[in-house]
Amino acid sequence: MRLILLSNSLTGKKEPLKLLDPASNHVGIYACGVTVYDDCHIGHAMQAINFDIMRSYLKYSGYKVTYVRNYTDVDDKIINRAKERGISPAKLAADMILNSERDMRDIDVAPADFEPKVSENIQEIVAMIKTIIDKGFAYSTTDGDVYYRVRKKSDYGKLSNRKPDELQSGTRDLVVGEKEDALDFALWKADTTPDASWQSPWGLGRPGWHIECSAMACKHLGKSFEIHGGGRDLIFPHHENEIAQSEVANSAPYASIWIHSGLLNIEHQKMSKSLGNHITIQQFLASWPAEVLRLGIVMNHYASNIDFTKGFFQTCHKRLLYCYEGLVAMDEYAETTASEPDKATVEAFHAAMSDDFNSVAALGAINIAFKQGREALVGKKTAQKQAQVAGIACALRETGRVLGLFKAPAISQIESLKAKLLPLLGVTVAEINAAIQERKDARSSKDFARGDAVRDAMASRGIEIRDTPQGTVWSIKFND
Ligand SMILES: [Zn+2]
Repeated sequence: MRLILLSNSLTGKKEPLKLLDPASNHVGIYACGVTVYDDCHIGHAMQAINFDIMRSYLKYSGYKVTYVRNYTDVDDKIINRAKERGISPAKLAADMILNSERDMRDIDVAPADFEPKVSENIQEIVAMIKTIIDKGFAYSTTDGDVYYRVRKKSDYGKLSNRKPDELQSGTRDLVVGEKEDALDFALWKADTTPDASWQSPWGLGRPGWHIECSAMACKHLGKSFEIHGGGRDLIFPHHENEIAQSEVANSAPYASIWIHSGLLNIEHQKMSKSLGNHITIQQFLASWPAEVLRLGIVMNHYASNIDFTKGFFQTCHKRLLYCYEGLVAMDEYAETTASEPDKATVEAFHAAMSDDFNSVAALGAINIAFKQGREALVGKKTAQKQAQVAGIACALRETGRVLGLFKAPAISQIESLKAKLLPLLGVTVAEINAAIQERKDARSSKDFARGDAVRDAMASRGIEIRDTPQGTVWSIKFND
């Protein structure tokens, strides 16, 4: 097995991925999914794509992966939104899950191995809460709520580095009702909302947010498992509380490694609904191909916050076109496909990705391969060079596939990338064809100055016109 180093939020260190059962080659991953009250935005896409790539890379490296990503389908936000719309919370959640599944398909994120829903795991959740109460770490109130006794867990705060005493000074919460301590959090909330409440030993109610992940992770991955992930905004309180609940209920360590992905800014501002700058996945896809989003995410390390701007997406878009055009040129040159990928490229890719999924360095290795491939196309064609180019193209497709890139048939993807990029550049195909014709006419009447002027005018608008043995072709300029 290839050694994989991961930045563990729990220890603050980069450490090797150790399997609980080394003979099995098996890695369990749990990532917190979406609360289904509204359509997914590109922040959700970013998290889903980052974990999709982690799963894909681990499999590429020979690991067996069980990936669990939940749906929070019982929540205040769902109940409130359903009320606004005059439908039941269950109906709203079911609709939003369908939308989310469509969105994930559209951005080429494969389903998780298990996609549990809170509403289908109430028994497991109630059983876990009972165990926590039996062990003295939780208590019920006469109102029918159940709270976790935060101060009883001596190492509470070990993930977020927030200790109960520091939290206490920062909180202005008053102890309401029978809650023993302002820090205690809800495991179960008394509630009678139809379609969003269930019978329990404490009366009608519904689970708190944190307990659902503890129960569903245990059900599908066991008491202890290798990797737990989510967005960085979930570290506190959500993940901290998951640890507190699971360790007490299971009398076992919870996830060994905690991975947190970065957050998203749009045009230098935090993306949020209140700022009105959030972009749903479908809104994004109306303007850009899905692979542009994928490349934009891969161009940043998963743990870093990304600033998405129009200019950045345009760069990604052009870069993709450059890559596909490179692949087509290499395919034409090689004439055959290689059976073995170029070893150096694959090794450089592994070196990058096994070091905390460093997709930035992995793209660096891919870029070098593109450069080498393109350079090999120049000069006299030899069988040896053809084999080298075929190996590079094969390595590019193989490593690209792990990142979710270069999977489309190259020629048709070039057409669709061009078609979506031209409106952004403010140029139409008709204008380009007219310019090519005008240049041809000028050149055939020996007016070369005019021919060059037409070409330069197009170049200033981002379109490159070139003469090839097959005739005049155009492409979108990429400044590499
Ligand atoms: Zn969670």
